[in-house]
Amino acid sequence: MAKQGSKKNVKLKFDTQWQYSAAPESPDHIILSDKYDLFINGKFTPPQSKKYFDTINPAKETRIASVAEAGQADVDAAVSAARQAYNKVWSKMPARERGKYIYRIARLMQERARELAIIESMDGGKPIRESRDIDVPLAAAHFFYYAGWADKLDYALPGMKAEPMGVAGQIIPWNFPLLMAAWKIAPALACGNTVVLKPAETTPLTALKLAEIIRDADLPPGVVNIVTGAGATGAAIVNHAGIDKIAFTGSTDVGKIIQKALAGTSKKFTLELGGKAANIIFEDAAIDQAVEGIVNGIFFNQGHVCCAGSRLFVQESIANTLLRKLKDRMETLIVGDPLDKNTDIGAINSRDQLNKIKSLVKIGINEGGECYQSSCSLPSKGFWFRPTIFTNVAQSSKIVQEEIFGPVLAIQTFRTVEEAIEKANNTPYGLSGGVWTDKGSKVFKVTSKIKAGVLWANTFNKFDPTSPFGGYKESGSGREGGMHGLSAYLK
Ligand code: ADP
Repeated sequence: MAKQGSKKNVKLKFDTQWQYSAAPESPDHIILSDKYDLFINGKFTPPQSKKYFDTINPAKETRIASVAEAGQADVDAAVSAARQAYNKVWSKMPARERGKYIYRIARLMQERARELAIIESMDGGKPIRESRDIDVPLAAAHFFYYAGWADKLDYALPGMKAEPMGVAGQIIPWNFPLLMAAWKIAPALACGNTVVLKPAETTPLTALKLAEIIRDADLPPGVVNIVTGAGATGAAIVNHAGIDKIAFTGSTDVGKIIQKALAGTSKKFTLELGGKAANIIFEDAAIDQAVEGIVNGIFFNQGHVCCAGSRLFVQESIANTLLRKLKDRMETLIVGDPLDKNTDIGAINSRDQLNKIKSLVKIGINEGGECYQSSCSLPSKGFWFRPTIFTNVAQSSKIVQEEIFGPVLAIQTFRTVEEAIEKANNTPYGLSGGVWTDKGSKVFKVTSKIKAGVLWANTFNKFDPTSPFGGYKESGSGREGGMHGLSAYLK
């Protein structure tokens, strides 16, 4: 049984600070169609498959729109449009002209930022604060950043002639729908490639809005094609003979399937897969800031980020104090309407994902872990999960080893720096991690020994288009973002 917190302990302290009136963002001004077709060759085109599926609002369990399900013939049409556009227009266009188109997309995204943020929160369940302040501005920032590189590629790779790969097939997940689309499309275009992108089946709407922006930016037809659908559509892209490069972000399981499918072909690939980040708190850390960093690392995003700080390692001498402060802070977290500006934790993206979180938490309890959840009330409809922590867990516990993708934190203690490093590295993943300490030397010692692509010191989950991102071991291969992200799209 999970123990639940009680507001009583912290009520007096926090009452005046966290009793907010509802402040919902109104969706009245956004324009959503009832039905979305595939974006192929610059036009919205009905699917040859004639199939559509519904995308729903996970906070209400209501249908938002029907979305086309691309079959093999649709993927063929998208790849052929991308090939034509590559051969005839995009690879021939002077790089500075390509750059202008990419800037235009960035500016249009900024102009429509509010609309994009609302749709992201409606379709994916994440709090408007996250989509408004992180997803959408960062997505536009990626287009701005890579627009700047378009005519400077030869400087990015001194001594080499920058040549595009051709047609890129890009498959993205539901946790950062628009941002992942930007991560993938912006560098591909800057390098002179054309694109067939598939968003996740539970969050296709902002990618389709991006298709409208791309159309409004007058990008030559076929340079970006956006096809919607589920795993079978993704597999059709991966296995298509007309594609030169696959960029995938998603689960390690699907990443392995893709890697097998690509083995022996000439297709290049980058895979950004799962993670199980360690967040390490030393006794000399600023403890209140660390608590905020923990909450930001695992709860503010419903744990829906592959780089979420889902394993917490606390130095034994401060464990009790930190745990008490963390539990107090958990009681103040507001779970609910993603469109409310006060909401800290939104809806879980889908019923399937919610069931997966519930079953892993059950396993954690059966394995002897001590489970504690905040006492917040949850809306009656929709997919929700309370912020949850586990103590008394072993390195071998399933909830310590497996990616949960929910607001669930496994907490362990350590005594020495060496023990912290060893425990942090004891995972098949290696995407990200965090270290909290007052000592710069300790930061360098620990971060140089942790096998993870991104490490934050005295902060967590900070992103910037100039900074490369990617993992070790089962977290994938290749880097996205920054200058490194260019080479993923050049021969
Ligand atoms: P997550 O667990 O994050 O949903 P998935 O790996 O299941 O991750 O999904 C990520 C993306 O991969 C989605 O767009 C999904 O439709 C797509 N996908 C799922 N199965 C396959 C497959 N066999 N081949 C290609 N793409 C796939």
